Amino acid sequence: MTDQATMNLVSFEDAVSRYDPLIGLETHVELGTLTKMFCGCPARFGGEPNSLVCPVCLGLPGSLPVTNRMAIEYTMKIGLALNCTIADTARFARKNYFYPDMPKDYQISQYDEPLCTDGWLDITVHDPAAGDEPRPFRVEIERVHLEEDTGKSMHVGSTGRIHGAEYSLVDYNRAGIPLVEIVTKPVAGTGALAPEVARTYVAELRDLLRALGVSDVRMEEGSLRCDVNTSLAPRGASAWGTRTETKNVNSLRSVARAVRSEIQRQAALLDAGQRVVQETRHFNEETGTTSPGRSKEEAQDYRYFPEPDLVPVAPSRDWVESVRAQLPELPGARRARLQREWGLSELDMAALRNAGALDLVAETIAAGATPADARKWWLSELLRTANKSGAELGDLPITPADVARVAQLVDSGVVNDRLAREVIEGVLAGEGTPDEVVTGRGLVVVSDDTALTAAVDEAIAAHPDVAEKIRSGKVAAAGALVGAVMKATGGKADASRVRELILGRLS
Ligand code: ZN
Ligand code: MN
Repeated sequence: MTDQATMNLVSFEDAVSRYDPLIGLETHVELGTLTKMFCGCPARFGGEPNSLVCPVCLGLPGSLPVTNRMAIEYTMKIGLALNCTIADTARFARKNYFYPDMPKDYQISQYDEPLCTDGWLDITVHDPAAGDEPRPFRVEIERVHLEEDTGKSMHVGSTGRIHGAEYSLVDYNRAGIPLVEIVTKPVAGTGALAPEVARTYVAELRDLLRALGVSDVRMEEGSLRCDVNTSLAPRGASAWGTRTETKNVNSLRSVARAVRSEIQRQAALLDAGQRVVQETRHFNEETGTTSPGRSKEEAQDYRYFPEPDLVPVAPSRDWVESVRAQLPELPGARRARLQREWGLSELDMAALRNAGALDLVAETIAAGATPADARKWWLSELLRTANKSGAELGDLPITPADVARVAQLVDSGVVNDRLAREVIEGVLAGEGTPDEVVTGRGLVVVSDDTALTAAVDEAIAAHPDVAEKIRSGKVAAAGALVGAVMKATGGKADASRVRELILGRLS
């Protein structure tokens, strides 16, 4: 059975009802150090091809590498934030293989003596589609080690791939940029949540790395890249199945989709009595499926041996503790604190995160709004607008300070809720600050009694039956008259004052 034929034969729901998925994630992160891992070249993204190179990162004979102290410190930061043990001594190894984009033809990497081991990252998994309560999950970390990035090949020809290319070009600017690899232990017990656990883990890791300030974590530029391991075993089986490794998945959504499609593909193979081949696979963004890459090398294929040109890294305990003391408040702890301070449920908090509104709400509160107002405006009016245009909340042309000002205008009675929505609409349309929109569109609430009394009298005259009901004590009927006054004033009347005036007139 071909790959294509096995696809779509088993639904995801069917697959996870009969098989237990086991996932594992290997994430590569380019560090945001000033210079490369073993030389003084700038560790910058882009640049004229082959302009950010020197004899060391070009692997010229006789050149000698020197370890970047800041890269070691950043890696320890990551390890400590992930609750890892920092080794007393770590060693670099040579990992040999033929890669045209690696000028030395080996990669310097940590192999049997990584800098950080045995940690964990706590995540909260919430699948809004399933409507479940958010569920805490601990992902255990096997190791965090340091290595160097490779260069980039460009295949020139109609397809842009190596097959059928006329010639290939290599840019070594990226070769030697410090790269941290974060490897999880196998994550069991996820069941149908496997795609969401994988996605949430990478999202949480990205937030953590961003908070640590060690990388710009741009998945689309490749500074955060994810390899996703997936295997299946029949429900309750004692041994795990054969895994595949889907390489370089470069968006959060694709991480979930890659796990999902591998689960379906492997279930179809196992159902047909075939075996899963241990191999690396590529994720195809268009089809949402994976296709085979090279068959997976075993560790011995890389012929690791200790790097003779570098001394071991032996961070002093003082250094480790000073790095620990510099750790900022981590995203998980910050969320727990904000949830407490704002008095939100786990589900409310998940809704804020899913909408990408957490930081915006925090900034709106910092600008003076109440937590309830900040949440209300970002999750209702603004989220609707963003969804309509397919934009992210953060990309809308309105600032947290603007939103806080709108809430303040409502509080002080300058505008009511309906007018406030118009103010927001005006800000989004580029008509200026909330105050400028209020002036420009003439949105101030009419609370002046002289103007309102005239409108109230007109409404009473136009609805004698309603007026009679109120006179006879049915105060609830006043709503209809308030509505009529609001309509007559284009929604600009102060509704509570209108109600008072009506009841005063008819008592
Ligand atoms: Zn260099
Ligand atoms: Mn690696």
